[in-house]
Amino acid sequence: MLLFDTHCHLLDEKNKKSAEEIIKDSQEVGVGLFVNIGTNLKDNQKAIALAEKHKNVFCAIGIYPHEEPGVSLNELEKGLREQLKSSKKIVGIGETGIDLVRSPSLDLRYAGGFGKARASAYQGRGLKEQLELFEMQIKLAVEFSLPLVIHNRNGDKEVLVLAEKYSKKGLFGICHCFVQNWNYGKKMLDYGFYLAFGGIITYDSGEYILETVKKAPLEKILIETDSPWLAPEPLRSSINEPKNIRLVAEKIAEVRGIGYDEVVKITYENGKRLFKLN
Ligand SMILES: [Zn+2]
Repeated sequence: MLLFDTHCHLLDEKNKKSAEEIIKDSQEVGVGLFVNIGTNLKDNQKAIALAEKHKNVFCAIGIYPHEEPGVSLNELEKGLREQLKSSKKIVGIGETGIDLVRSPSLDLRYAGGFGKARASAYQGRGLKEQLELFEMQIKLAVEFSLPLVIHNRNGDKEVLVLAEKYSKKGLFGICHCFVQNWNYGKKMLDYGFYLAFGGIITYDSGEYILETVKKAPLEKILIETDSPWLAPEPLRSSINEPKNIRLVAEKIAEVRGIGYDEVVKITYENGKRLFKLN
């Protein structure tokens, strides 16, 4: 039985190993599918090349809220369109979304010892610009019928408004790194989104997310690592890798009171269905 890591950054400079080594090590412990996530045009290009090289590695391409500073929206859209035409291994748009860092020291996403490095990297776009960048990519997802990979840090309200608006036009996708409450989860499910759980659900500080882990329909949940970030407990302070995805599946099994094998099997099938892999 194989695991599906639906969100990893195999080419992030934070990784100590090469993408090839990470893929190999993960495969050895049963990770069978990967969606490698791009965050800017250059990163997307590398993600496409890596996916073209490995049968079981796919990619999503997008512009992260703070990436490509100073580049015009038109240019970014043009770049993404060119990339979209270039490979059948592109299975999603993102990650994109809203990233408002109000208090980095209190933010779960900074967990794991990378706090300072990440905080300094996030002096990027303001909300208005982020919304434009996000909406451009939402429209691409609708046009190309690809799932949208949403990054949401402190942007609940904004994400909800756009998800509702575009769900009527056929938008669907993933709430990557779901950290909201069940009420929010329910709404996003209604708008056609899957909820992806990662290492945070294994943290004490992520305990409040477990209600959603428990209540979300099994056929609408995904597992992900967001590696090299957010290593699950008990590896929290280490650099995360897709091979650690097992710990997330174990946590979901424990919380829902079902077998580990069932979680692995169903999240694998869910991912294949959502990303249209066949
Ligand atoms: Zn990510």
